[in-house]
Amino acid sequence: MDLNLLAERLLPGEYPLLEAYEKQYPPRDLPKNAEVTRLAPSPTGFIHLGNLFVAIANERIAHRSGGKLYLRIEDTDLKRKVEGAVEAVISALDYFDITFDEGAEIGGDDTYGPWYQRQRAQIYRAYAKELIRQGRAYPCFCTEEELSALREEQTANKEVTGYYGKYARCRDLTQEQIYAALDAGKPYVIRLRSLGDPTEKFTFHDEIKGDVTVTRNDQDVVILKSDGIPTYHFAHAVDDHLMRTTLVIRGEEWLASLPIHLELFEALGFRPPKYGHNCSLMKMDGGSKRKLSKRKDPELSLSFYRQEGYHPFAVKVYMLTLLNSDFEEWHAKFPDKPLEEFPFRIGKMSRSGALFDLDKLNDISRNELSRLTVQEMAAFLKEWALAFGSEAQQAYFADEAYLAEVLALCMGVGGKKRRKDFVTAKQAMEEIGYFFSDYARRDAYRVSDETRNAVLDGFLATYSAENDAQVWFSKVKELAASLGYAAEMRDYKADPAAYRGNVSDVAEVLRIAVTGRANSPDLWTIMHILGEERTRARILAARVQTD
Ligand code: GLU
Repeated sequence: MDLNLLAERLLPGEYPLLEAYEKQYPPRDLPKNAEVTRLAPSPTGFIHLGNLFVAIANERIAHRSGGKLYLRIEDTDLKRKVEGAVEAVISALDYFDITFDEGAEIGGDDTYGPWYQRQRAQIYRAYAKELIRQGRAYPCFCTEEELSALREEQTANKEVTGYYGKYARCRDLTQEQIYAALDAGKPYVIRLRSLGDPTEKFTFHDEIKGDVTVTRNDQDVVILKSDGIPTYHFAHAVDDHLMRTTLVIRGEEWLASLPIHLELFEALGFRPPKYGHNCSLMKMDGGSKRKLSKRKDPELSLSFYRQEGYHPFAVKVYMLTLLNSDFEEWHAKFPDKPLEEFPFRIGKMSRSGALFDLDKLNDISRNELSRLTVQEMAAFLKEWALAFGSEAQQAYFADEAYLAEVLALCMGVGGKKRRKDFVTAKQAMEEIGYFFSDYARRDAYRVSDETRNAVLDGFLATYSAENDAQVWFSKVKELAASLGYAAEMRDYKADPAAYRGNVSDVAEVLRIAVTGRANSPDLWTIMHILGEERTRARILAARVQTD
């Protein structure tokens, strides 16, 4: 069969010579050992933690080696592109400080673009045409029905499903059959003619998983769909070659397709990149581990972290903790060093599932937030509040000096040890709400109405905003004693039965009255920040009306 003629019939017209592409996309001028990595999301609009996980690894490896990270948009599979999906990816990753050197909507050097696969259709076709000429690709006219009948037959026979060997019906069509089908206007796809022997096993070195044994591909996979758009497999081989990717880090779900990709690289005459197949993020559910799921786990979506107001730095610290086993120790030892200085290595990445645990992230978040300055905290909260806070919360930022006092107290600035009250911006904003008369919480009083009023009235009778913390506290103690509570803890501990309780029970009543909470930072300071008028008004309002 004249394969040149067939190639012309299937993909008519002038296509650039493949050498021209080699020139247009030359090897990159980068230092030796520099890695070129990429992120290649499909524009579905859903960007998840797994994307961030892989993105951080790609970014660290590229930039630590003096290489490049680029963004390619894999939009071949989508009938409809979700509006704004690319911007959403960029902004979600930018929030976590992942910056691309080049790529879709990035600007900068465009040598290796275009970065949308749909805009590269001509390139894939040129390579497919060449494979047809060489007899390494052929048209397949099988219909959906025929393919599903084939699958059923294979399943019934307990055989591997797919288009291969004796099942690859269109593989050996005669010239007459092909042209008759073409003349009849039958739709077709282009398939790879696989030369692989499925009984042959070989060892492949995965940069993350180490040596893995895989079987040669014998599937005649589709490379161009009937609309002339490539499949993931084919676009991956062509793009990662021409864009001069040196290292492909991708989800482990692609490991099964690796033999296909290696055969495609071989058929195209390209040297394959290095691969690292990254483990999935798992979580504990009941007693067993399972993959994070889009349907069940809101924390899989990156927008969750933004809406909840997790500090991006904390999320990044946690991701790095999961990515490289010695990161946690390094960060604990050098908490002030920029994360970029950590010697990230692909070889230290986990081979099996990384266990994601929101409680652990919360612990990290508490820690990282406690290390911010008051100004940094205010800026962080403001950014969150402007995007997600209520109108009342947005008003917290009107008086910066007041807010700074509140934050300094809640963060324990100036104290012996920083407080770790804040986990996320959302929670912190609720936490400080009582300074702005926003009571997200109203804890119950643990005393009778009568005692409550006695404490509140007794406090007001001697309260003076002029008193320093010591005088203030000795007045609270006196009040406690007058109501039958132990003024000193040690007296109480020595003989609890002799008292109704102790001074902290009395202070709790005042605390709930003023803050709505049974636990809070130092109550004297809170009253001091609120000022006399507000403190009095709150205590009066907390009295139980008896008549
Ligand atoms: N578009 C593929 C995905 O989103 C990319 C996989 C890869 O990185 O090669 O899963």
